[in-house]
Amino acid sequence: MKKVLILGGGFAGVQTAIELQKKGIFDVTLVSDRDYLYLYPISIWVPVHLKEFDDIKVPLANIQKKYPFKLIIDKVTGISASESKVTCQSQALTYDYLVMAFGADKMQHKGIYHTLSICAKPEMALEIRNRIDDLVQKGSGKIAIGFGGNPKDKSAVRGG
Ligand SMILES: Cc1cc2nc3c(=O)[nH]c(=O)nc-3n(C[C@H](O)[C@H](O)[C@H](O)COP(=O)(O)OP(=O)(O)OC[C@H]3O[C@@H](n4cnc5c(N)ncnc54)[C@H](O)[C@@H]3O)c2cc1C
Repeated sequence: MKKVLILGGGFAGVQTAIELQKKGIFDVTLVSDRDYLYLYPISIWVPVHLKEFDDIKVPLANIQKKYPFKLIIDKVTGISASESKVTCQSQALTYDYLVMAFGADKMQHKGIYHTLSICAKPEMALEIRNRIDDLVQKGSGKIAIGFGGNPKDKSAVRGG
């Protein structure tokens, strides 16, 4: 069987692992530095205490039980395409096919400092919650809510 390595355990990586495993013709391994799939869209309820951080996490091991791909929890530190090799913190892996699904880092645009974005990384939901809790404790304060565009694509918007 051809070996497929999928790097990243977010929606993209997990869905790819499920679909390729279902085909039954690949040896599928998912590598993620988190042991859970984080459900970003419902993370908005964490800052206002309507959901706990753990409610947003789906253990990758549970998904793997239903769709038995191989699962490795490790941080990818390097990729050598010429050797078909991926280096992780505690091991090296080889592949026939490689899928990179690392997600995106949030860009810090000029002028946008001191902001927290719920889609930047899971822990941000908790940081935003702490800030809101501080405001409630204080009794007053200001919350700035941003809505951004993309000068290179006028149809693109992002609220926050
Ligand atoms: C409030 C909110 C609402 C949203 N609503 C929608 C919606 O309605 N529809 C929609 O399509 N999208 C929505 N999104 C966006 C959506 O959540 C993201 O587009 C999606 O999570 C991106 O998935 P991904 O797998 O590409 O990346 P991520 O979810 O970022 O996953 C990346 C994975 O790679 C892993 N990783 C990163 N670096 C390494 C490394 N070096 N080694 C090993 N693993 C690594 C991470 O641990 C993570 O598991 C929403 C987001 C938010 C915050």
